[in-house]
Amino acid sequence: MKAAVVHAYDRPLSIEDVPIPVAGPEQVLVRIEASGLCHTDIHAARGEWPVKPPLPFIPGHEGVGIVEKIGPGNAHGIEAGMRVALPWLGYACGDCRYCNTGWETLCTHQINTGYGMNGGFAEYAVGYARHVVPVPADIDPRDAAPLTCAGVTTYKAVKVSGAGPSNLIAVFGAGGLGHMAIQYARAIGGTVVAVDVNEARLRTAAELGAEHLVNALEEDPAAAIQRLGGADAAISTAVTPKAFEQAIASLARGGTLVCVGLPAQNDLVVPIFETVLGGLTVKGSIVGTHRDLEEVFELHRRGRTKVLRAERPLDDVNATFETVLDGSAPAPRMVFDMVGDGRSEEAAAAAAHV
Ligand code: NAD
Ligand code: ZN
Ligand code: ZN
Repeated sequence: MKAAVVHAYDRPLSIEDVPIPVAGPEQVLVRIEASGLCHTDIHAARGEWPVKPPLPFIPGHEGVGIVEKIGPGNAHGIEAGMRVALPWLGYACGDCRYCNTGWETLCTHQINTGYGMNGGFAEYAVGYARHVVPVPADIDPRDAAPLTCAGVTTYKAVKVSGAGPSNLIAVFGAGGLGHMAIQYARAIGGTVVAVDVNEARLRTAAELGAEHLVNALEEDPAAAIQRLGGADAAISTAVTPKAFEQAIASLARGGTLVCVGLPAQNDLVVPIFETVLGGLTVKGSIVGTHRDLEEVFELHRRGRTKVLRAERPLDDVNATFETVLDGSAPAPRMVFDMVGDGRSEEAAAAAAHV
């Protein structure tokens, strides 16, 4: 099968023909239809985090496809022919204090798809039956892919922010994650201010209902948001610590910063005085649970969210990484289309016009 493989953190991915994996006990084999490119895949391929993925590996944790084979043992209700998503939480033990309290995302025995086990940048991938999530029939797999990480992560972040109707919610970084965060913040009745350094992403943020836009290259987002009364919640998906610091400074008293982005530079300066006097909260949020992803799919199925994406063939993986890094990506989320010709509908429509 075709796969994009990382052999070294300082080299491009290589497109290779590798054996189709075999579904082991309680695993399923999935023929991938669509696979989203999360910025985490870029951090992973470049070995940018304190815990690096063992080499070689196949990235991708927004893979969606059709179950072809079921391994031995308990299939947890998954059957051949079902469309499923293979999320970042590839495996959790099910027995620990975190798994037993609805916090499987904090399981210390977890294995992450596209990091500790091979992921969705391939024609096939295996997943643990208990952790793959069925995709409702009326959701396009190319939409389901970004929902599988960008969607569920920001859905959870909005939940844990504690924000409610009429609150001002600041979303720092309006890319893959951010464009979904804006929609969940709106869904709970919040007023959204979107902050980015990329005009194209601010335009898509406005299309999705962000009432206020701040280009952090042009004005200080903290000052701009304080003029609006301060953010009750700030969700930072940006890939630089500076945005997190600006997000703290943008909070209203009693406000909460939810840290979601995972920049290569790992240090964040939190001012103690302002945090104490302002009664501020700083919390981390990592993806979402199996149930959260089911809820994300349900919201999408009911037309409450939109996925703004553009497709590419997997062969273009390295060039596509570059477009995310240099800000030239044509949509907030890039998706590898494993069944079509890898061209987005918008590109096909534009070509048809010429
Ligand atoms: P992305 O590249 O699609 O989006 C990042 C956005 O931040 C871009 O639009 C970029 O222009 C913007 N940005 C850059 N500098 C900025 C600044 N100074 N101020 C404001 N905006 C700025 O990436 P993504 O796929 O959305 O992922 C974002 C981050 O979230 C990555 O670090 C990724 O690893 C992490 N992530 C975390 C989780 C989690 O569970 N916590 C899950 C998925 C991804
Ligand atoms: Zn991700
Ligand atoms: Zn566990």
